[in-house]
Amino acid sequence: MTSEAVAGTAARNGGSRRIIVMMGAPGAGKGTQAERLSEELGLPHVSTGELFRAMLKSDSRLGRKVRGYVESGGLVPDEIVVAMVEDRLAEPDAAAGVILDGFPRTVAQAKALDRMLEQAGTSVCAVPYIEVPPELLLARLTGRRICTKDDQHVYHVVAMPPAKDGICDVDGAELYQRADDSEETVQGRLDQQLPPMFEVIDYYADHRVLLPVPGDMPAEEVTVELLRVIENTRST
Ligand SMILES: [Zn+2]
Repeated sequence: MTSEAVAGTAARNGGSRRIIVMMGAPGAGKGTQAERLSEELGLPHVSTGELFRAMLKSDSRLGRKVRGYVESGGLVPDEIVVAMVEDRLAEPDAAAGVILDGFPRTVAQAKALDRMLEQAGTSVCAVPYIEVPPELLLARLTGRRICTKDDQHVYHVVAMPPAKDGICDVDGAELYQRADDSEETVQGRLDQQLPPMFEVIDYYADHRVLLPVPGDMPAEEVTVELLRVIENTRST
C-alpha cells in the first residue's frame, strides 16, 4: 500500500470515530430517537440544550462567557457554541464518537463543525434526518391538553387521549390547550425554525452524508430504520 493509500484509509475511517448529527423538525421525535440510538450504538447523546444548561451552572471561562450572553438576552455567537461542542467532544466518553442533537442549526455552524473536526482528523459520518410531513408536525405539536385542576395531568389528543374528550381521567376536570401549543403559535415557530434547518439538510445532502428516514411511523420502527441506514454507511 502506498503512503497516500494508507493516509486515505485513515481519513476514511476517521480513526473510526463516529460523528453522527441528528436532524429533524420540532415534533419529529429527534431527541427521543437520539436517546435510543445512543443506547444502541454506545455513543453519548450530546444535546446542545443540555450543554447550555450545564454551561449556565459551570464556573469555567466558557461557562461565564455563555452566561454573559444569555443574561444580557443576546444570542450566543457561533464560535462559542462550537467551542462548547468541541469541549464536549474532548471528553473521554466521546472518544468513539457522539450523537449530536440540536447542533448545527445553521450552515455557518455546520461549516464551523467541519473545520473543527477536520483539525481533529475526522468528519461527520452520518446525518440521519427524520422526515415528517408538515401537517403531521402541526398535529403532534398542537395536540397537548392540560388539566385545569392539576397541570401534572397532561394528555395528547392523538398520542395519549383521555377516555372522554376534553375531560381529565384522574379528576374529571376540563382540559385546556396552552397558548404556546395553539396552531398559530406553533406554525409561527415552525416558519422560523424550518428554513434554516432545510439549509443545513441541503448542506449535508451535498456532502453525501444525509440519511433521510420517514418519521410518520411508530417510534420503534423509526429507530429500526435509523439503525439500518446508519449501519449501512459502515459497510460501504
Ligand atoms: Zn386532572
